[in-house]
Amino acid sequence: GVRDEQPAVAARRRPTRQVMVGDVPVGGDAPVSVQSMTITPTADVNATLQQIAELTAAGCQIVRVAVPSQDDADALPEIARKSKIPVIADIHFQPRYVFAAIDAGCAGVRVNPGNIKKFDDRVGEIARAASDAGVPIRIGVNAGSLDKRLLAKYGKVGPEALVESALWECSLFEEHGFQDLKISVKHHDPVTMVAAYQLLSERCDYPLHLGVTEAGPAFQGTIKSAVAFGALLWQGIGDTIRVSLSAPPVEEVKVGIGILESLGLRKRRLEVVSCPACGRAQVDVYSLAERVTAAFEGFPVPLRVAVMGCVVNGPGEAREADVGVSAGNGKGQIFVKGEVIKTVPESRIVETLVEEAMRIAEEMGTE
Ligand code: SF4
Repeated sequence: GVRDEQPAVAARRRPTRQVMVGDVPVGGDAPVSVQSMTITPTADVNATLQQIAELTAAGCQIVRVAVPSQDDADALPEIARKSKIPVIADIHFQPRYVFAAIDAGCAGVRVNPGNIKKFDDRVGEIARAASDAGVPIRIGVNAGSLDKRLLAKYGKVGPEALVESALWECSLFEEHGFQDLKISVKHHDPVTMVAAYQLLSERCDYPLHLGVTEAGPAFQGTIKSAVAFGALLWQGIGDTIRVSLSAPPVEEVKVGIGILESLGLRKRRLEVVSCPACGRAQVDVYSLAERVTAAFEGFPVPLRVAVMGCVVNGPGEAREADVGVSAGNGKGQIFVKGEVIKTVPESRIVETLVEEAMRIAEEMGTE
């Protein structure tokens, strides 16, 4: 039926401390949140706000913007004020942009203190400013940002090197009494990435931001992220996720939400249960499944909708669906909760499924 039962939970969440990114809690018992990053020049306030609005509509809960120049830093107050979701400023080296981001009302900053220390040791001042403003900081380690000393020690960017680097970065803040931290240890290889986060989760209780870096174009990146996040979240590791794709950021959000839904960590909005088709199929299952998915986009209640390619196995296999169709001979048998209620011509299958689904939604009183 409609998903009100508790999903089988993957694993108990690993206990982490909680930080607040604006009004979004990350870590502790907070649900795993989905984040993404804008690809517009941050200094272009309107374009950036427009993209943030699209991400928000797609379900993004936290958004990160890059701050590579003073013009970008100057845009932060307006972006932070007008965004409906918390904004994190991503800063590489310059302490002055960190202070600007905190003053601008950003909900978080991503910066590695190791970089700051090399140029101008203002880590203590940053810790104080962030602490006064209640702004958490994410330390983000990846192959590109690994300390040279550690690269020399380990010879390559493996899990140990990533974790040691991250914990060293944390210590630079801890020595100033600042612990409002989140950590990521990203890698492009899911196996290395999973091992790194496992190790990190044994060594500290900071909330963890999961990511596979440079995961690639949408298809490959989706697979890499789903496998890596799945392996970790299944063990209760991970407090917030960012899928990185060489694709529009809204796609990252959809994939991230899909991963959480697949793991039962978030209620599904719509699940289309469609058969893979086989030699018995009497309809083009792929196109029918796609048309059904499109017709149900944004449906007001979570539903499981079945699309089966033949009447032999259809209704039986899709018994758990709220509504569904078994197609054959130019017709579709429409079933609701496992009972065939009517047969319609193939051209009316999609609209009939939507009509029946609306009826279910009305019965639930959540129209
Ligand atoms: Fe084949 Fe019918 Fe099963 Fe689809 S529902 S996979 S067409 S047997």
